[in-house]
Parts: sequence; structure tokens; C-alpha cells
Amino acid sequence: MHCPFCRNPDSRVIDSRTSDDGLSIRRRRQCPKCGGRFSTIETASLNVIKRSGVIEPFSREKVMSGVRKACQGRPVTEADLAVLAQAVEESVRQTGSSQIDTNEIGLAILGPLRHLDEIAYLRFASVYQAFDTLEDFESAIDQLRADHHGAGAGSTHGAE
Ligand SMILES: [Zn+2]
Repeated sequence: MHCPFCRNPDSRVIDSRTSDDGLSIRRRRQCPKCGGRFSTIETASLNVIKRSGVIEPFSREKVMSGVRKACQGRPVTEADLAVLAQAVEESVRQTGSSQIDTNEIGLAILGPLRHLDEIAYLRFASVYQAFDTLEDFESAIDQLRADHHGAGAGSTHGAE
């Protein structure tokens, strides 16, 4: 890491701290030559292999823009999308691989999106899983209904 002030190739780490989400480390550095201070942010590399075969760095912004389309007209805020994108990044990083394909990202989106908004979930799933018949929608909706039923059984309603 070159000093941004004098281009000296050496720098000394004077402080390191992990970001709140635990996904990156911010290091405060000082140049031993000119004394200039600067910060670097280090993250483990995570690349996405697109269907076209192109490899690009994982981007939370891309996850958000994909999900944002499915959320049009739904009560989902930008903050919700940011939380979802963070959850997706954490879950794909947990697989431990540094390269994942877009399919795995789609799968990682489905779970948290379903909790966020079921209509957006159905829209996203219909594109991602290429629903092409009404039966595909029906079975996805049946699945949601079945899960609602299951959740109701363990309800703590009235327990306060
Ligand atoms: Zn310097």
C-alpha cells in the first residue's frame, strides 16, 4: 500500500478495527517517510460468477437493485433492502467460498425476502425460479400458506 501523499511504498499500521458487521477491517496507517496518515479497508474477496461466465466482485448494491424491482409498490424501505443485502452477504460468505454463482445469491435472497414481504418474494421467485405456469404460483402460495399455518400453531398470542 503506497502512501497517498508521497508514494512511499511502506506504511505502518497504527490501529485496526473490525467493522460493526464483522465483514471488513479498517486499518489506520502512517507513512514512516512523510508522517502522513490514511486508512485502508480490507475485506475478504468474494466474487460472483454470472450466467454469462463473467466474474465480478460481489456487490450489495446489485442485490438491492434486483430486490428493489420486486418490491415496487410494496411497503419496503431502502433500509429494509440494505438489511436484506447485508444478510445475503453474510450468508454467502458463511459458505466459505470466495466464488459463488448468481444462482446461490438468488437462493440466499429468497429466505430473507420472504420474511420481508411475501408479495415481493413471489415476484422475485417467479423470475428467479422461472415460473411459467399458474400452477407454479399456486404451489409457491400453498407453501406460504402451509408455513403460516405451522407458525400459528406455536403462537404465543395472549401469553402476555
Ligand atoms: Zn508518505
